[in-house]
Formats: sequence, C-alpha cells, structure tokens
Amino acid sequence: MNSQEVVRFYPEVRSVHLERLSEMTPSRIYFLSKRSDFDESLLSAGRYAERTTLFRMVVSVVRNPPRVLEVPEPLWFNYTLHSWVLIRALRLLRPRASRATRIVAYAIENAEYSWIPPKLSWLPGRIWRIAARSAGMSAWAGIDRLAFGSQGAAGAYGNMARDAGWNVMPGETAIFPALPSYCSCGETALRGAESARDGLESVVTFIGALEARKGLDILLDAWSMVSAAMPGLSLNIVGTGPMEPLASESDAREASVKYLGGLDREDIHKLLTKSDIVVLPSQRHGRWREQVGLSIVEGLAHGCTVVASSETGLAEWLESNGHLVVSAPTDSGELADAILRAAARHDSRRGSVLPVRDGRIEADGWLSENSILDAASAQVGGVDGR
Ligand SMILES: [Zn+2]
Repeated sequence: MNSQEVVRFYPEVRSVHLERLSEMTPSRIYFLSKRSDFDESLLSAGRYAERTTLFRMVVSVVRNPPRVLEVPEPLWFNYTLHSWVLIRALRLLRPRASRATRIVAYAIENAEYSWIPPKLSWLPGRIWRIAARSAGMSAWAGIDRLAFGSQGAAGAYGNMARDAGWNVMPGETAIFPALPSYCSCGETALRGAESARDGLESVVTFIGALEARKGLDILLDAWSMVSAAMPGLSLNIVGTGPMEPLASESDAREASVKYLGGLDREDIHKLLTKSDIVVLPSQRHGRWREQVGLSIVEGLAHGCTVVASSETGLAEWLESNGHLVVSAPTDSGELADAILRAAARHDSRRGSVLPVRDGRIEADGWLSENSILDAASAQVGGVDGR
C-alpha cells in the first residue's frame, strides 16, 4: 500500500493556505469548512483539497498512514478534540505502520490558555485553567514537531507548558516568524510608482473583517483627527462584516474615505501596491487575540509601513523594524498620531528587510522534511524551544 506523503488537516481553510501550497511540500488537505474570504477558484487549480468529516478523515489516515500528518495547533481549542481523536486513532489502530508518521503543527496562537471564553464565564477561573491546560498539553504531547510562527506564540505555549509542570516543551520546537517575502506582483508597479508618487500624500488601507475586534471603529474615530491634520491622506476600507454601515457612512460623509466592500485576491494585491500604510488596530475580544493579522503580512509583502496594535504576535518584530505599534486597548488619539507619524516619513516604503522565503514555507520545510534522524529525534523528544 502506498502511504500518503503529507496530509494536512486545516479545519477552516483560507485562500492563503492554498496560495502557498505550490511552494510547500506536496500534500493532501482535508478541511471541515471554508472561511468567508475563501476564493473558490483556488480549488479548481489542481490543488488537492477536500471537504470532509472527522470520521472520514480518521478512516483515511488509519487506512493509509501518511509520512507527515499536520494537525491544528494545540491552543486552538475548537479542534483540540479532533486532533486528539485523529492522533490516538492512528497510533492505536496502526501501532506499527504509524511509527513512521511524524505528527506536526504550526502554532500562531498567542492568547494565554488561561483566558476564559466569554461563553464559559460562569465557570470558576481555576476550573477553566485546569481543563484548558490538560486539553492543550495532551494535544501537544501527541505532536512530534511544533513550529511557532511568532515570538508571541512561543511565549503563550511556553507559559502553558511551565504551568503544567513541564521543564521542557514536548517534542521538538522551533520559531519561524510569520514574515512574508516581497510579493512579486508589485515589483515593477512599485518601482514605477516610487517616482510617480513623489509629492503625493499617503494612501492608508485597512483590510479585515469589519468588526470591533479589528478596531475599525477606533480607526474611523482616529481618521477625523488624521484628515484634519493632513488633509491629503486617503483611507481605503476593505472587508465585510457587521460594521459595514459604519464604513459606508464614513465613505458618504468624508471625501477622504473610500469603502470598497470585499475584494477578490487580485484586487487586494493591486490595492496594496498602491498603498503606503496598512492599519490594523486589533483589540482583544473574549479569548480572541490577533495572532498575526493577514493584512499586516500582506502589507509588508507589498512594502507598506504597518500601523498595528500590540496584540499581534509580530508586535516585537514590527517595533524593531521601523513600523508603528500602538498599545491596546487603543486610544483613537494615539492611533491617529501613529498614522500621522507613518505618513510623515517619506522613506517609509520598502523599509523592512524581509526573508527570501515566506516564514510559513520555511516552517513547512522543517516540519515535513525527510530526514534519517526523524525516528531518533522523535524518540528522544524533549528538545527545548529556541
Ligand atoms: Zn502582490
């Protein structure tokens, strides 16, 4: 029987998952649902991705143990049980054949395990902490290699392991910051734009769900101060969600604000090549905390200056690489000030040194690499995080 090479379980598949696939180890993807930003055309482009159920996935993996099985990260509590069932079924039902299977995960959750979900706020905090820690650690214990996508994620996982009494993190761990490489779509456009744009005021762009957790209301508040101070600036708002009326009202009221609705991937790339600043003032919401922020990553990839809140796991990197980080909860005055400072910098474009390869692709290389040391390292385990 041919073993499947790499199987990835992405419970909620996003466009960006499939877009990167061509540069990652060839694999088969199982998903349970699609995120709202999912671009259907990606499915027809010959990429192997299949909607399934937990049961069908277990059957497939047990029947044909893969060389590498990627599961959701342990702190994604909605799917901790799914991973646990999948891994246990494979290990128990195929004890010999699954010895060659490496279980891996990519972690970007930076919310502390101890934060209680609002739905469970009636539960004593201590009970939640014990339950969350046990669930998180038992999912993690089944994982052979865990790649962290940010310093923030490594911190949150480290705290959980320490509180659970582990001196070292389970399995092998390594950090691959979720930084992009420069997007090739904008290269020529940017070069041409640099000279053509001299003397023009900055274009500011917000891309994300139109929700309070993405800080859209704070941004719109801040914007009246920004446009009063620097009237030539313009703001593009892209996305859909409950705050759509707020975005439309701003568009109707202020000449400098444009609400573009939801855009497809190609138009987002086009917009970003024309943007100077990407703003994402994410705010904590219940257990939710911005992990990385797709628009931050995509803004970087197109040479934009980023203005983000301290909630993103990349905050530390952004701050030390010439971008602006505001505290959270964010005050609209502080945000306005940060946008103005970013706009005042004429040398702000293309300021970051980005890796040649996207951090997620780099992480995949390590997670799914084929090595004769695999078996040995899987048995030794207990390698401390870097
Ligand atoms: Zn692009």
